[in-house]
Amino acid sequence: MKIVFKKVPITGVDFKTSFEDIKFYGILEKKSRNLVQCIGKLEGTLSCDCARCGDEMSLHIDEKIALLASDGLYESSEELVEVIEFFDETVDLDTILQSEVETLKSDYHYCTTCSEN
Ligand SMILES: [Zn+2]
Repeated sequence: MKIVFKKVPITGVDFKTSFEDIKFYGILEKKSRNLVQCIGKLEGTLSCDCARCGDEMSLHIDEKIALLASDGLYESSEELVEVIEFFDETVDLDTILQSEVETLKSDYHYCTTCSEN
């Protein structure tokens, strides 16, 4: 799902997309000429490997997302928030979702057996 930067209103616009078994929904709000705030939630199940035994496991995901989407290069020195840059004048929510999913997958997760021992 892509939304053109220029079409995101200050009052916000709802979005909803999904990737594999993860749903991503929330609201996009225009913050400045080049910035759109994305507030949303990731929900669903993610399959990943246990960091200890390598068994495949499913992870329950329930995560709040708050980041900025920048129309072009983000040049502020403020690094307090996560910023994702887009260079085709559209906010691509699937890109945001997939990058969040990759971040979740790259964390260490342990299956029930390993976390009990
Ligand atoms: Zn394990």
